[in-house]
Amino acid sequence: MSKVLAIANQKGGVGKTTTSVNLAASLSVTRNRVLLIDMDPQGNATMGSGVDKNGLEYSIYDLLTDQADFANVVKRSEGEYDLIPANGDLVSAEVELISLENRELRLRNIVEANREHYDFIVIDCPPALSMLTINSLVAADGVVIPMQCEYYALEGLSALMDTIRAIQDRINPTLKIEGILRTMYDPRNKLTSEVNGQLFNYFGDAVYRTVVPRNIRLAEAPSYGKPVIKYDRKSRGAIAYLALAGEMLRRHDESARVIQ
Ligand code: ATP
Ligand code: MG
Repeated sequence: MSKVLAIANQKGGVGKTTTSVNLAASLSVTRNRVLLIDMDPQGNATMGSGVDKNGLEYSIYDLLTDQADFANVVKRSEGEYDLIPANGDLVSAEVELISLENRELRLRNIVEANREHYDFIVIDCPPALSMLTINSLVAADGVVIPMQCEYYALEGLSALMDTIRAIQDRINPTLKIEGILRTMYDPRNKLTSEVNGQLFNYFGDAVYRTVVPRNIRLAEAPSYGKPVIKYDRKSRGAIAYLALAGEMLRRHDESARVIQ
């Protein structure tokens, strides 16, 4: 059974795109069929996958507004996963969606029509609780929340949790918090252990045991249009995202067993 994961946090620069690209690549090296959907007009996941956002004939914008078919939009990425790319055109989707019917269900319909071809669909959300993020959360089975263990990190989460609860109540009752991922992790920072404690208190087992350290290779790889495993597969960043994919697959198997 396939799984659709939205990588979301309305706070900017917490590692959503780094996680989306490297999780997609790490899941595909373990022989999963993976689709990455870029839902951010910044197009960072597109560029980081080795696809030029400025040279696109079609993008997620055309799909959301019924101007192209999935087969016209999908690309093969450097990381050996499929990619639905995005660029600045997506800014106008935000406005155009408002006048369309079922505006919150647009991405969900696209995902549902194509999910049988994939084991995992990863959605990179923009840093806002906008219509684009709502579409992503409505389409998803689970939310992965990347966060930095810093002072204001938890404070910002309450707005995201409220949005998730509203979506569970109104449209997508089976949406789950898939996991909390600690990114740019620095155990020497005094605040880290305090925030760790709060995170485990609040989210319990939903906090991934895997942490992603601050690693320069992760920051360099996107400028080569590659996920880190294709850029420096022995780096700490590459190893961390492979470990995350492993932890996710184990959890996925365990929950499948419970359901059977
Ligand atoms: P936005 O909210 O703008 O979409 P984001 O949440 O997607 O940002 P990223 O773009 O993934 O965040 O990361 C922000 C910056 O931090 C980028 O320059 C990225 O290369 C860098 N970065 C992310 N994770 C790490 C890490 N573990 N170690 C070092 N640098 C990192
Ligand atoms: Mg991003």
